[in-house]
Amino acid sequence: MKALALYGPGDLRLEERPVPHPGPNQLVVKIDYVGICGTDLEFYAGHYPPFIQLPMVLGHENSGTVVEVGEGVTEFKVGDRILCGPPAACEEGCPLCQEGKTNLCINGFPNTAGIGGPDGGYCEYFLIRDVKHTMLIPVPEGLDMKDAVLFDVVCVSLHGIRQSRFKIGDDVVVSGTGSIGLAAIQFLRAGGARRIIALGTSDEKEPIIKQFGADYFINSKKCPDVAAEIKKILGSPVGAPIVFECAGNPTSFNTCISCVRPGGQIMCIGTINEPFQFAPGPFSMNEPEFKFTFVYTRDEVEAYLDMLQQGKVNFNGLVTGVVSLEDAVPKFIGAPSRKGHLKVLIDPSL
Ligand SMILES: [Zn+2]
Ligand SMILES: [Zn+2]
Repeated sequence: MKALALYGPGDLRLEERPVPHPGPNQLVVKIDYVGICGTDLEFYAGHYPPFIQLPMVLGHENSGTVVEVGEGVTEFKVGDRILCGPPAACEEGCPLCQEGKTNLCINGFPNTAGIGGPDGGYCEYFLIRDVKHTMLIPVPEGLDMKDAVLFDVVCVSLHGIRQSRFKIGDDVVVSGTGSIGLAAIQFLRAGGARRIIALGTSDEKEPIIKQFGADYFINSKKCPDVAAEIKKILGSPVGAPIVFECAGNPTSFNTCISCVRPGGQIMCIGTINEPFQFAPGPFSMNEPEFKFTFVYTRDEVEAYLDMLQQGKVNFNGLVTGVVSLEDAVPKFIGAPSRKGHLKVLIDPSL
């Protein structure tokens, strides 16, 4: 079968690998779609954690159909359509898993690149190495796998909102209009936000930002005083009670600080990997609260699928490209510019 394996920075190779077969408590999934995640792009750029062993097949946003079931697996059968999420409820039963906080599992996402094995799903057939300790979620009949596979990016946003102080009727600011920001906007609308102000840097995205549920769009690159503009929109001398950082960069983080009201919350859903200068003095008198979130739980993925099926959320327009394994690097991952793209999926059958 074909697989895309990372050998080092900028070196992602299409290669031939044997089709895996499941051992006890394992299964094999024929990949329908695998999402190309921001972290995959980071890995390709050479920013990967030290525990990663190369070569490694990337891909943790996997969806597919069960084609072979190993001994002892009773939860799934051939033909089942499933989402393959990160390791969940670790075998060791770490203290966090025992508390039900599988998103914080010490053997989970942060130590496995979200895959739960040496290789991910940028391939035709994906081996689930430990059925009992992997987040495997059946996809209800009638749901398009192309929507279901968005679970990773979408549930990062859902989890962040659920962990925030957000309540129905709150005014909110969402900084960042990539897939995480757009997903946050949809869930905040579904959750009954009063006014949603989106901060982005690209005017071309305004139609989709509004389609996803933002009431206002501010181009933070062009606007000379974002905080003043937000106060004007809200008709209030203070900023927004909750600001969601969804861009994952220092500029956005600092903008969020400027537009949260005294005593408000800055919820950091985006992942900022670069170090930056941070002087708390000027805003510490306002006593803002900072909170950071990263990965989601199984029940949040199930909630997403239910909300999708009921039409409460709709991510039409988020997928801006579907590529083959051959085209993934030249057309997207290694392309000179990825501008204009939101979420790109790999369909290994192409
Ligand atoms: Zn991801
Ligand atoms: Zn654990």
